[in-house]
Amino acid sequence: MAAAASSSCGGAGCGPHCSSSSAAAVEDASAAAAAAAEKMGRLSLSRECGKCGGGGGAVAVAGGLGLCGECFRANLFGKFKLAVTSNAMVRPTDSVLLAFSGGPASRVALQFIHEMRSKAIESWDASNSQALPVFGIGVAFVDESIMYSKLKHEIEMAIEDMRSIASSLSTGVKALHIVPLEDVFSTESEDGEGRLREAVDMIGDDTGREDFLRCLRMLSLQKIAMENGYAKIMLGSCASAIACHVLSATVKGQGYSLPADVQYVDTRWEVPVILPLRDCLAQELTLLCELDSLKTQQHLDRPSNGINSLVASFIERLRLNSSSKLKLHPCSAVIFVNCLEDYSYYYHPQEDNPSREHTIVRTAQKLKPFSFNKFSADGYHDFLPSRLRPKFQKVDSDESTFSEILCLMCGSPFNESELQNLESTKHKAQKKIDLYTAHCCQSCYFQILPVGENLNEHFFSLLPKFWTGKVDTVSASHSLLR
Ligand SMILES: [Zn+2]
Ligand SMILES: [Zn+2]
Repeated sequence: MAAAASSSCGGAGCGPHCSSSSAAAVEDASAAAAAAAEKMGRLSLSRECGKCGGGGGAVAVAGGLGLCGECFRANLFGKFKLAVTSNAMVRPTDSVLLAFSGGPASRVALQFIHEMRSKAIESWDASNSQALPVFGIGVAFVDESIMYSKLKHEIEMAIEDMRSIASSLSTGVKALHIVPLEDVFSTESEDGEGRLREAVDMIGDDTGREDFLRCLRMLSLQKIAMENGYAKIMLGSCASAIACHVLSATVKGQGYSLPADVQYVDTRWEVPVILPLRDCLAQELTLLCELDSLKTQQHLDRPSNGINSLVASFIERLRLNSSSKLKLHPCSAVIFVNCLEDYSYYYHPQEDNPSREHTIVRTAQKLKPFSFNKFSADGYHDFLPSRLRPKFQKVDSDESTFSEILCLMCGSPFNESELQNLESTKHKAQKKIDLYTAHCCQSCYFQILPVGENLNEHFFSLLPKFWTGKVDTVSASHSLLR
């Protein structure tokens, strides 16, 4: 951090307080930062801002550099913007659908993408040619209240809040889509709610049920995006959420498909998915919401009891203990010793490694991504600065259509043994149900599918055609003999 003592913010979009001599303003911002950080009990305080030199309490972010409120904000926005631009996530002609959960991460994502749009509109207005259009933003909220027996008025209040958030954005959003989860099932019959409940009740495993609902959420977003002409789906997955996913995927034996889920870009879906907050920590995003008074709906959090929540509390522990000595409950240590031989250093904290979530995500990023983890469509790079174009140009034509077989349920790419199983099932070629189950990855097979052929058949009959219909297309269009 050579620039630590510099008096400006290096053009990162720092606010007016930053290098200003208005001591009162600096103090206000710093005091707010300090109070918020103290309340969170997660981000430590340092004496002065390492970027602009502003005095008073500052927020320590990942890397140990103390920042004032303004520089902290500019730093987070910088990370978001860099992720968006350097991965060509959003083209000027795109409409982007933001998956909004009401939590701090998606709230910040909405704020930041809106800010980028406002700046794009400003420069569009200023430019003489006005050749390129400015991208649009839509917001989607998947209402899962049917699964979590939330009080009706709680959801209604949350939705009311979302409407006011959407209407408060100065450049406006294209639309706010509030869609109940059961709508995915409603295309088949009137009784979407009944079918959803029945399918979920057939899943015996807590973790399986959560993973199934996560698949449904993605289907739901895909459906909204396709029906309304969105080109990208933006998720608020931050480093902390991805770190949780890395550990749970490892525990569940999904190591092969893991690299697919930890990249900025994921084009294996009909509508590509982008993760611009991948480099931001959950506690940073929560703190920003507090500093900027961005309203969040924490009470909409889903209750959870499977492996996913166990891992989440493990990550929480790493975070809370990261600045002091880390002590793990022996039980959780045993689990992770057994499952994560190579990850053993996570629970041996080192003083110069203040952010374990970043470390976990960075380690996972070293795994080779799949070909669908980048944009490679023709003409895509027309809008890019020339220095970025090589990143997106096709190396050879084989890469443009990816050859991975994806799990029918969760979309995970198949590993070698899953491919072999699918191949032999295809050759035996009898009932459709065998094809369906062979098109599910090991993890979905054991955690989600009910045991027994009849139950399985019934389970698949409940799922939307949108979902199961893929098997026929996939088996027809792919030769599995390679
Ligand atoms: Zn500063
Ligand atoms: Zn699967």
